[in-house]
Amino acid sequence: SKNRGRDVTSLFNWDLKYKLLEKTQLIHDLRKAIVNKEFYLAYQPIIDNQGTVVKFEALIRWNHPTRGFVSPDNFIGLAEGSGQIIEIGNWVIKEAKQALPEIQKVFGDVQVSVNISPLQLSKQHGRELSSLLLTDRKSKHNGLVVEITENLLMNLDENTRKSLLDFKDMDIQVALDDFGTGYSSLSYIMDYDIDYLKIDKKFVQQINESSNSPLCETIISMAHQLNIKVIAEGIETQKQMEVLLSYECDYLQGFYFAKPMPLAELLDYKQDKAF
Ligand code: C2E
Ligand code: CA
Ligand code: CA
Ligand code: CA
Repeated sequence: SKNRGRDVTSLFNWDLKYKLLEKTQLIHDLRKAIVNKEFYLAYQPIIDNQGTVVKFEALIRWNHPTRGFVSPDNFIGLAEGSGQIIEIGNWVIKEAKQALPEIQKVFGDVQVSVNISPLQLSKQHGRELSSLLLTDRKSKHNGLVVEITENLLMNLDENTRKSLLDFKDMDIQVALDDFGTGYSSLSYIMDYDIDYLKIDKKFVQQINESSNSPLCETIISMAHQLNIKVIAEGIETQKQMEVLLSYECDYLQGFYFAKPMPLAELLDYKQDKAF
């Protein structure tokens, strides 16, 4: 048993070392990913409470030359740690901005939302970031919407604060992602003129045949009192859709309606679930 203990320990160490090496390798590979065109964006439809597609969320995909598909959950954090996230974030914005007119040609006056890392908001100059985000304006609001995670509001630094105020000035809409997982105060939500709350899929997925979600209901009614629209993400079942609509949720997103699709596929997409 003494031996077994040692084996387990060395296995554990080996595993850790392996993971560390793998991370170092991925960070290294990320440097070439943009130039080698290994990234692309997948777009997931967001529908309003009438069933019309009105927005899309742009989600990054990495097609690694030897590993194949690497999930953003496995490299966004690494890119934040190494600082590469700013370059990646700027690539995402440019790519989505370029796709927007093509998407609008098919789907009308829709918006595309992009996920921006808190690190980018804290490091990049607000004016620079907002001018990257500005699109040709034919409609009331900017064509690109910024998605930032809720916990960003909990440790706001000066630069982030300024960037958020720039967005407000330029009427670039902001969605608070993963809402319900952090503890952001309502006053911040008011100060920075947040336009949408996105209810995290963790809460949406608690809804099933035998249980509703008082939490989702509360978030929605609270948001509405503050004049903020709500997007529910991660809807996978008809039941979840029905319950959220009964709570007067404004927008719905999830595999039940459509998965994220590369641009070419998206432009051919025909909605098959109406209600
Ligand atoms: P997120 O912003 O919360 O994005 C929603 C995630 O839920 C996406 O995963 C999406 O594919 C997935 N999803 C959508 N509908 C459903 C559903 O019905 N069921 C389930 N189980 N999942 C659903 P994805 O694309 O793997 O992205 C994971 C996370 O990586 C994102 O979470 C976001 O935090 C980050 N991420 C993705 N793209 C970007 C990006 O361009 N920039 C930054 N900074 N982060 C990104
Ligand atoms: Ca998001
Ligand atoms: Ca706003
Ligand atoms: Ca989320």
